[in-house]
Amino acid sequence: MLGKEKALLIDTGLGISNIKEEIDKITTLPIIVATTHVHWDHIGGHKYFDNIAVHKLEKDWLIKFTLSLTAVKNNLLKKPCDFPENFDISKYKIYSKNPTTILNDNDIVDLGNRKIKVIHTPGHSPGHLCFYDIENKYLFTGDLVYYGKLDVYYPTTDPVNFKNSIEKIRKLDINKVLPGHYKLNISTNIIDKIYDALIKLQKDDNLKQSGRIYKYADFSIHV
Ligand SMILES: [Zn+2]
Ligand SMILES: [Zn+2]
Repeated sequence: MLGKEKALLIDTGLGISNIKEEIDKITTLPIIVATTHVHWDHIGGHKYFDNIAVHKLEKDWLIKFTLSLTAVKNNLLKKPCDFPENFDISKYKIYSKNPTTILNDNDIVDLGNRKIKVIHTPGHSPGHLCFYDIENKYLFTGDLVYYGKLDVYYPTTDPVNFKNSIEKIRKLDINKVLPGHYKLNISTNIIDKIYDALIKLQKDDNLKQSGRIYKYADFSIHV
């Protein structure tokens, strides 16, 4: 997102190619990297930037990641995509550094003529954040909302918090939902659909970790 004075880059992907080279083609403004959450597939390219912002609850994960390097490499190899030619997995490292900015719920990141609201949306991870472009009413949802399998089955996830976070973003006036995975710019009514599914799971006493996957038209929920 480009403001008049600064640009906000939300997450940096797998880190298997230099994302900064692409960003440099778009803007020369100073970049703030906003982390939706500290999972390996969202922080891979953080190493190319200096100003890294993260929620306070995941600050320590940026300093010391929760999975081993072997586990992350195995995950990378599972991804159904071709690596760039010059990528060497034996040299892959997990990003690890002290963040420069700590974000909290309701913080406003002012890019100069463009204000972005920070929304704490725990559930997929404890410090998960969505970013709301107030004027354009765009919501960047990270791993809270997308077409695909929504994951709340890891030890650090929480299905009830996830439902509460969906309830929280449902109250926003949204023109565009821009997720962290799969299809970009998806229909805004997906939020209500996910909410309805979670409410139904709660009513049936299934909103808890069980290893089950519940399937719906555009998404599934792995609790
Ligand atoms: Zn994630
Ligand atoms: Zn993800």
